Amino acid sequence: MQIQHEVSLKAHNTFGIDVKAQKFIEVTQLTELQELLIHTTEPILILGGGSNVLFTQDYEGLVIKIKLKGIDILKEEGDSVWLKVAAGEVWHELVLHCVENGYGGIENLSLIPGTVGAAPMQNIGAYGVEIREVLESVEAVQRSTGEIQVFNNESCNFGYRESVFKNIHKDAYVITAVTLKLSKNPSFNTSYGAIQDTLKANEVDTLSLKAISDAVCQIRNSKLPNPAEIGNAGSFFKNPVIPQAQFEALKERFPNIVGYPLPEAQVKVPAGWLIEQSGWKGKRFGNIGVHARQALVLVNYGGGNGAEIRKLSQDIQASVLEKFGIEIKPEINIV
Ligand SMILES: Cc1cc2nc3c(=O)[nH]c(=O)nc-3n(C[C@H](O)[C@H](O)[C@H](O)COP(=O)(O)OP(=O)(O)OC[C@H]3O[C@@H](n4cnc5c(N)ncnc54)[C@H](O)[C@@H]3O)c2cc1C
Repeated sequence: MQIQHEVSLKAHNTFGIDVKAQKFIEVTQLTELQELLIHTTEPILILGGGSNVLFTQDYEGLVIKIKLKGIDILKEEGDSVWLKVAAGEVWHELVLHCVENGYGGIENLSLIPGTVGAAPMQNIGAYGVEIREVLESVEAVQRSTGEIQVFNNESCNFGYRESVFKNIHKDAYVITAVTLKLSKNPSFNTSYGAIQDTLKANEVDTLSLKAISDAVCQIRNSKLPNPAEIGNAGSFFKNPVIPQAQFEALKERFPNIVGYPLPEAQVKVPAGWLIEQSGWKGKRFGNIGVHARQALVLVNYGGGNGAEIRKLSQDIQASVLEKFGIEIKPEINIV
């Protein structure tokens, strides 16, 4: 494909922000990607499905949209199967492929928008499962040299919505493929009450990958706004983790505060609750706002711009800090 000029990115980000890329190209071949990385002198932005980015201005450089495709079985041993998946595959289509073929491990991550290549970036997670639990390795091209490197699970240094690709190696690598170790004899994760309730409502007697995937899709469709209808990028903020002592002190002042205990005397507090308690839920400001059912989701009703959404996010951060003394940080990549 040829490099295109002055391309609107509106259809390439789920917020539906109408900014322009000075240059834009979709890559389907690894060699083409390596050539571009080595020879391009201007800034480069890598894009998958655009479901975790907020564009605040036109992009003065080259946007490379990753369209590398392919799902291959590398190896099968006992109950395990190793799948190597190219970065441009759509994540949910991969989940459906695995469910159909009886490969367990990512069914709880059904319906997360975006591409396979972006999934390790922030260690995608939902309903008690994170990709790190099944990720064997990540193949990535080093931007400065065009060379391919393999990161094993440990060297990705995964954390809650974190990996080396989002922090110490930010903008240094382009992920080209991911290898997952899945199970043909999976143990199902139904630890979330919502999954149990939905399985019960669906009168599921025998657990299966499909029953869980269907339940997760049902829950997500009922809770989260569909970006095809209202522009959004899912959770805008990460859930903050605070020391147990700070949580106890807050509980004195706010008896209803919610918290999930973590190791090392830490507590995870739902950012959505903090935002809601600070009075933002359902607030609309012109074309943008805070979703009425989910305070963690900022939305573009149509025609909103990214700078306005960033400003709203900063106002929300300031008011949560003032009320609770807790700093909430964006999960979204702001460009
Ligand atoms: C409605 C909705 C619900 C969501 N729910 C969840 C959820 O439950 N859990 C969760 O974890 N996330 C969730 N998300 C966030 C999002 O779906 C994930 O972060 C997803 O992995 C982003 O994929 P993408 O291809 O769209 O990435 P993009 O938005 O295109 O990119 C995200 C970042 O990764 C970089 N990047 C993309 N591809 C590559 C690559 N191949 N190599 C190197 N860098 C790359 C980009 O430069 C950017 O910085 C949700 C989003 C929406 C819109």
